[in-house]
Amino acid sequence: MRKMRRKGLASMAVQTVATTSESTVDLGPAAALSCRECGHRVPLGPVFACEECFGPLEIAYDFSAYDTEELRRRIEAGPANIWRYAPLLPVPADVADKPNINPGWTKLVKADNLARELGVTGGLYVKDDSGNPTHSFKDRVVAQALEAARAFGFTTLSCSSTGNLAGAVGAAAARAGFRSCVFIPHDLEQGKIVMAAVYGGELVGIEGNYDDVNRFCSELIGDPAGEGWGFVNVNLRPYYAEGSKTLAYEICEQLGWRLPDQIVVPIASGSQLTKIDKGLQELIKLGLVEDRPYKIFGAQAEGCSPVSTAFKAGHDVVRPQKPNTIAKSLAIGNPADGPYVLDIARRTGGAVEDVTDEEVVDAIKLLARTEGIFAETAGGVTVGVTRKLLEAGVLDPAKTTVVLNTGDGLKTLDAVAGTGLTATIRPTLDSFREAGLA
Ligand SMILES: *Cc1c(COP(=O)(O)O)cnc(C)c1O
Ligand SMILES: [Zn+2]
Repeated sequence: MRKMRRKGLASMAVQTVATTSESTVDLGPAAALSCRECGHRVPLGPVFACEECFGPLEIAYDFSAYDTEELRRRIEAGPANIWRYAPLLPVPADVADKPNINPGWTKLVKADNLARELGVTGGLYVKDDSGNPTHSFKDRVVAQALEAARAFGFTTLSCSSTGNLAGAVGAAAARAGFRSCVFIPHDLEQGKIVMAAVYGGELVGIEGNYDDVNRFCSELIGDPAGEGWGFVNVNLRPYYAEGSKTLAYEICEQLGWRLPDQIVVPIASGSQLTKIDKGLQELIKLGLVEDRPYKIFGAQAEGCSPVSTAFKAGHDVVRPQKPNTIAKSLAIGNPADGPYVLDIARRTGGAVEDVTDEEVVDAIKLLARTEGIFAETAGGVTVGVTRKLLEAGVLDPAKTTVVLNTGDGLKTLDAVAGTGLTATIRPTLDSFREAGLA
């Protein structure tokens, strides 16, 4: 089943590259696309599947010219956004001068109150990516895909989205002067629909779940109707995915060029988690951090937990599920990078766990109450899983731990709809006292 799907995608991918293989593009240190399964290399282009084995393609770099201390100084002198890491990304050297929404360099919050509540003594941090321009981590990946779209001459930006990506694509396209046309499941949260529509691009609701939306987009790429379209998470996926490495870079730099011991990452397609691992490995190889062991933990909602189910069962393959959870930004039932997430969790000594929707809501409130951070449901998933893994003794409370919050609670207000007024009073001191608030 998986093989057949891949074969279809790969033949489309090969078709696309035939028209662009002559073009030489400047994407900085990116040297080629390389197959994650068999290592087969092809020139940089808008392709995503290996012509030999249908495995996913990813960016291969040439970092050989870098001197560690010179690179560190260059990064530290760079802008307070992801482009400080341009020497490690598939973007041209002058990327910071181009119209882009310049995401990243979000806060790494030392969460001492939450740490006390959860019994963590080794240092607990929340990497708060709600601080990005469209209030989710997706701005990081879209910023990379936009540069690839420019390099390959696309004029329309598109995507299949669980919500946050649609907004990030809309905003990036607006700033850069691209047309955008994005596809979402028709029944998303109101906040996500408005956040995606307000930038003025076309927003299309598909009658189906995310996996249906994704399948539709794969068909559109192979059709003349999709010509000239850069789908950030399909034909530009290898470039898009690299944006997640910046989370790893920022966390380490913000810790004083140090690896965390444990890091808790949400899983939708699994791309973010795999690229955080890639980013950490690069920092070690470049000598920017000391080579010490770290563990990566994946977090899902129980109502869409194909990867944690496989992890707990000891399986290498991920069986697709039909999502049913309030954590809609993570509701991908057939995660493309699922098997790689399993590899990374096992190789690093981490784990993959899931929490119920009720635990997600509790965790959103816990984080808000202890640290003043209002997370979307995906942040409830990571904080909830962190609590659960600490209670189970899987996470070590004596180790430096980083928990990702990848989105803003204002986008998923329904999740905490029961939260409201403490009291309603007349504008008098008597009334205030009567309500027991004095
Ligand atoms: C997309 C998304 C993720 C992670 O997605 P992957 O497909 O696993 O890379 C995490 N959190 C939020 C809020 C998202 O929108
Ligand atoms: Zn291959």
